[in-house]
Amino acid sequence: MVKSDIEIAQSTEMLPIEEIAQKLAIDKEALDHYGKYKAKVDFSALHNKETKNGKLILVTAINPTPAGEGKTTTSVGLGDALQKIGKKSAIALREPSLGPVFGVKGGAAGGGFAQVIPMEDINLHFTGDIHAIGAANNLVAAMIDNHIYHGNELDIDPRRITWRRAMDMNDRQLRSIVSGIGARTNGMPREGGFDITVASEIMAILCLSHSLDEMKEKLSDCLIGYTFKNEPVKLGDLNAQGAVAALLKDALKPNLVQTLEHTPVFIHGGPFANIAHGCNSLLATKMALAHADYVVTEAGFGADLGAEKFIDIKCRIGDVKPDAVVIVATIRALKMHGGVKKTELAEENTEAVKAGLPNLLKHIENIQTTFNLPAVVAINAFPGDTQEELDVLKEAIEATGSNVVQSNVWAEGGAGGVELAEEVVKLCEQDSEMTFAYELGDTIETKVDKIVQSVYGGKGTEWSVAAKRTARRLTKLGYSDLPICMAKTQYSLSDDAKALGRPTDFEVNIRDLSVSAGAGFIVVLTGNIMRMPGLPKEPSAEQVDVNAEGKITGLF
Ligand code: ADP
Ligand code: MG
Repeated sequence: MVKSDIEIAQSTEMLPIEEIAQKLAIDKEALDHYGKYKAKVDFSALHNKETKNGKLILVTAINPTPAGEGKTTTSVGLGDALQKIGKKSAIALREPSLGPVFGVKGGAAGGGFAQVIPMEDINLHFTGDIHAIGAANNLVAAMIDNHIYHGNELDIDPRRITWRRAMDMNDRQLRSIVSGIGARTNGMPREGGFDITVASEIMAILCLSHSLDEMKEKLSDCLIGYTFKNEPVKLGDLNAQGAVAALLKDALKPNLVQTLEHTPVFIHGGPFANIAHGCNSLLATKMALAHADYVVTEAGFGADLGAEKFIDIKCRIGDVKPDAVVIVATIRALKMHGGVKKTELAEENTEAVKAGLPNLLKHIENIQTTFNLPAVVAINAFPGDTQEELDVLKEAIEATGSNVVQSNVWAEGGAGGVELAEEVVKLCEQDSEMTFAYELGDTIETKVDKIVQSVYGGKGTEWSVAAKRTARRLTKLGYSDLPICMAKTQYSLSDDAKALGRPTDFEVNIRDLSVSAGAGFIVVLTGNIMRMPGLPKEPSAEQVDVNAEGKITGLF
């Protein structure tokens, strides 16, 4: 019988976390221990003496099926494979949110023989960062309502408060609430709601800050609502930034753990990939780059969203740059893009694999042409794939002149990724001048048009009246130079989840915009974006259990 992820994880002996830190020459003094196998790494490790400047490898993917195509699994396996071929490697990933863990998607610590451990801890609370972010977010919410209750000196219009409460749970019941009802002493009645914590602006800020001071500045700039005279109100106006930063002082430190093969992994920060930029913290990436020669990191969703935002937002704000990009593709996703129904993806179908290829080719083109970075496709082999299908795909990609390797890391761990690791090392030797999809100085409309035309391959954009109005307002408020954070379906290159393959001639509908003034980007909403997901009919929470000794079962 095939072992489950948690069975594989629990049967692996972990090394004490100091030994993992030692591999990166991180001083014991810089570790704050959270048990034997998890530690936070102090900022001193970043600013210390002999730091390196490792090569950065970005792992992204084609437009996925709802199950995910294995970016995290590939990232972990590639990190292990690099270690196996004698390179000093590290991995930087996002922290899992409890929402998906108890919902449908499952964990975010890899799978099979390419996992990060202790996976139960990482998937459940970990070192408490996400709860700290929730508390910080809710302190601001409490201070806003309290300010109004005590006389509202700032003249905040209770109908136009944009700051929402947060909780790390899929709980649709809290999406829209009315609060402050009952007695006069219960506050001012108003409508509001909860977002899942990973969708909060504070999460994005934590991921884009280099220091506590910088974080405090960004926090002060957060827009929390508008006055009755339509003037913006900022978090700094409430003087909340100090207390919020104090709540986040430990959360800002990257967490260190290990893979099944004891490769060091920084797991830190986990902003949603739709309304935020969807990658781990800049500090974790930089900490890894400062101590390893090769750092593998992942960006959420397909390359149209994940890699674009990684490059246009994270690389810009953090002044980092990938040296190579791995595009993960699977037989099942190609079949889906080739027109096969979701219920029939398990059946062999080489014609559909070929028919789905244009989707993958567009992502390769984007990485190589729009962003001018060296790329390799990693075919993430699944147990049900036939050799014929794998061969057909490999040959079809090779025929276009692109680099491609099969990856077997899920089944074999690092040993199954040696060929991929060797290819990545080769790509990292190439000189590349990364280019962006747009210039910061472009107007908001031009930036969005450029993303749609060059990255998505669409004709242009269609703006709603509300979107046009917001664009004018944000420009007037001085936000037009910020990078763009597209909120779009991950299933298609277009804004229509059903337009699979490589759609052409489409327009993207721009519904509205909002500014994350503290995090430093403008969110462009192309459809209904979920900031508080719900649980499915049979949540995976029903499978999870813990025995008398504290051993957890049923987590994937
Ligand atoms: P992503 O990061 O792209 O969302 P993950 O790496 O989290 O994808 O993988 C999604 C799910 O698919 C996980 O449950 C993982 O264990 C599983 N998975 C990934 N690669 C394979 C594979 N080659 N064979 C079987 N299952 C896989
Ligand atoms: Mg992932």
